Order: sequence, then structure tokens, then C-alpha cells
Amino acid sequence: MGKIEDLIKEKNLKPSDCVYHTWRDALNRRKQRTGKIRVLVLPDRIARVEYKCPECGHEDYTELPWKRPFSVKCSACGFRITVPRMKDQAKREAKAEV
Ligand SMILES: [Zn+2]
Repeated sequence: MGKIEDLIKEKNLKPSDCVYHTWRDALNRRKQRTGKIRVLVLPDRIARVEYKCPECGHEDYTELPWKRPFSVKCSACGFRITVPRMKDQAKREAKAEV
């Protein structure tokens, strides 16, 4: 992890430059918060995704076209890591974007 952080520093990005930015726990099959996922979307509609797979612990960075609902497949074990949109998380998201 740290690639998105580097990108933000390198491009000197402000929250207002981001279409979407979130960093949250990723759930494994047993709904345990054992992983992390960070998504940064810029006006080019490309999602920069950084994750730690909740199933196998593999860490990776990838870029994908942005769409909702959003999910990314672990490059090591194939587990699909989703970015859920729940009410309380949407609130937390709004706070993080300030
Ligand atoms: Zn995995």
C-alpha cells in the first residue's frame, strides 16, 4: 500500500480534484474485516485501486474503468473484493471527502 498516496503527492491532488475517493475495510467470505481497499477516481473516470485481499492477504495495485457497483478481483486468488455502498458507509465517505 502507498501507491495512491504517492500519486496524490506527485500530482498534488486536492479532494476537489477527485471524483471519488474512499479507503475502507474489505470483507472476506466470513464477513470479517481482514483486508483493505482504497479507490481513487479522477476526472478521467479511471479508478486507481489499491487493496489487501481479505482472503489471502495479497497486496496489489490496479487501474480499471470506474463503474458502480465497483469490485476488483484479487490477482493472486481471484476473490472478488467489493466496495459496498451502505447507508452508514456513505455517511462516513462524505465525511472523508471534506
Ligand atoms: Zn486474494
